Amino acid sequence: MMNSLNSRTITKSSIKSKLLRGSIRRQLLSYIIAGVIALLLAFSAVIISLTTKQTEARLEHNAKQVTIALAQNTILALLTASIDNAKTAMEQVLSFPDVDGAGLVSSDGTFRVWRGNANTGSYFENMPWKQIHEDTILFEDRNHVYVGSVILLEDADINEVGEPIDERLGYAVVSFSKRSLDEINQNIIVSISFTGIIAVISLILIIGSAIKKQLAPLKELTQIMVYNHETGEHNLAHVSGSIEVEKMAASFNAMMRTLDDQDEKLRNHRDQLEAEVKIRTRELVEARDAAMSSSRQKSEFLANMTHELRTPIQSIVGYVDLAKEEVENEGAFHIAEDLDKVTRNAERLLGMINSVLDLSKVEAGKMELNINSTYLGDLLRDVEEATAPLVPTNRNHFYLVNHCENMLLQIDNEKLLQVLINLISNACKFTEDGTITLEISLQDRQLQFAVSDTGIGIEETQLGKIFNEFIQVDSGENRKFGGTGLGLAISKQFCELMQADMRVTSRHGEGTTFTVSLPI
Ligand code: ADP
Repeated sequence: MMNSLNSRTITKSSIKSKLLRGSIRRQLLSYIIAGVIALLLAFSAVIISLTTKQTEARLEHNAKQVTIALAQNTILALLTASIDNAKTAMEQVLSFPDVDGAGLVSSDGTFRVWRGNANTGSYFENMPWKQIHEDTILFEDRNHVYVGSVILLEDADINEVGEPIDERLGYAVVSFSKRSLDEINQNIIVSISFTGIIAVISLILIIGSAIKKQLAPLKELTQIMVYNHETGEHNLAHVSGSIEVEKMAASFNAMMRTLDDQDEKLRNHRDQLEAEVKIRTRELVEARDAAMSSSRQKSEFLANMTHELRTPIQSIVGYVDLAKEEVENEGAFHIAEDLDKVTRNAERLLGMINSVLDLSKVEAGKMELNINSTYLGDLLRDVEEATAPLVPTNRNHFYLVNHCENMLLQIDNEKLLQVLINLISNACKFTEDGTITLEISLQDRQLQFAVSDTGIGIEETQLGKIFNEFIQVDSGENRKFGGTGLGLAISKQFCELMQADMRVTSRHGEGTTFTVSLPI
């Protein structure tokens, strides 16, 4: 219901707005035509009213004159009560234009005669004859006017003061037709209408062409505006016409020029930007290529170097072992202790070189997965064996909590082992007199290894950085604990290789938990 109402309103208003939205020329013309027609109607009404009044007055005057003449010429007829004596006078009266009837009545009513078309009928019976004077309008209807005149016998007698006493012989009545009056009115209306139509048409033509001429520049300006709007071009308008239109066209042209300037600036700016982007892109591509090539070279160099470094260190460790045996055989135990220190440091150096080698392998894309079947129990046993010497260092306790069966895993056993040992060794390093727990659980088809400790913890702001290479949380305590800052970076890279996820949660001063989620 609401909708139909709305649509009706919209239709009505749109039609109205369409009508109102006609050209200025059409609107001006319709106002002028309406004004001229209203003026013409008022003028015609005044003319018709004035002319009718004048004609009526003339008709009345003539009617009275004719009736008085009839009264004067029919005295004898009334005296003799002879119709023949009245005949000539009545025929004369009837020959006047507009007279369509004439009659005589004796004052006692015994004699009466009527000639002509109009019929007074019973009106004569009720006529107030005594009130009739020389010329009296008896009555008037739509088509006729009846005029009466008394017929007097003058000088018949003299009254007490010597004045002649008129004796009423009877009355003359003449009927006048209003036909000519109507004809005159009709003629006036016809001629005024005719003149009016011609005047309106001429006015429309004259004013229409004048308005057209005046509005031509405005129309041209509008066309240019519409064309520019539709095509997006900035054509200029011809400056002509009235002062207002000239001003509009000049302002429009100024606007178009400004737009042109702005377009030009934008184009230049865009070209500059494009050129700059091209240069920057080329530079970036070059820089990227250079970076990629230098990164590859660095990784290759590191891999080669670490390989070259490992061989002599391994030889050192071997020779130190041999030397130690000989020294012990000779009983120089204090020298054997020094040789132990050499072995420990050489092994530490070897561990560091191994880490760098692993990292450079991963970065160079040379690290590959070596998948094999391993029982979870065997893996955990290896972890415990490898980390057992680290636990007591800081008087810690290690707990293994396994919620899973001894399932057979298809994994890169070595890499997972390295990750877990690294996490547990970090936990042992950053915890004193506390506990370290390795908890294994199965969640959403993910095997989760959670290594938690009750150690120093990591500040929240540092949590995002610890997986970056060579990053150590920079505090005096870290220096105390030592390390390379590579362990977590390598572990993370290994996890990614195994499509596993590594996350960390920690509270500073309370402890840390690293969780490795491995899809199975
Ligand atoms: P490294 O241990 O050789 O310094 P890592 O990459 O293994 O290098 O660790 C990076 C840093 O993360 C460590 O220096 C330490 O600040 C922080 N970190 C790692 N594990 C722990 C942990 N369990 N408790 C507190 N801090 C830790």
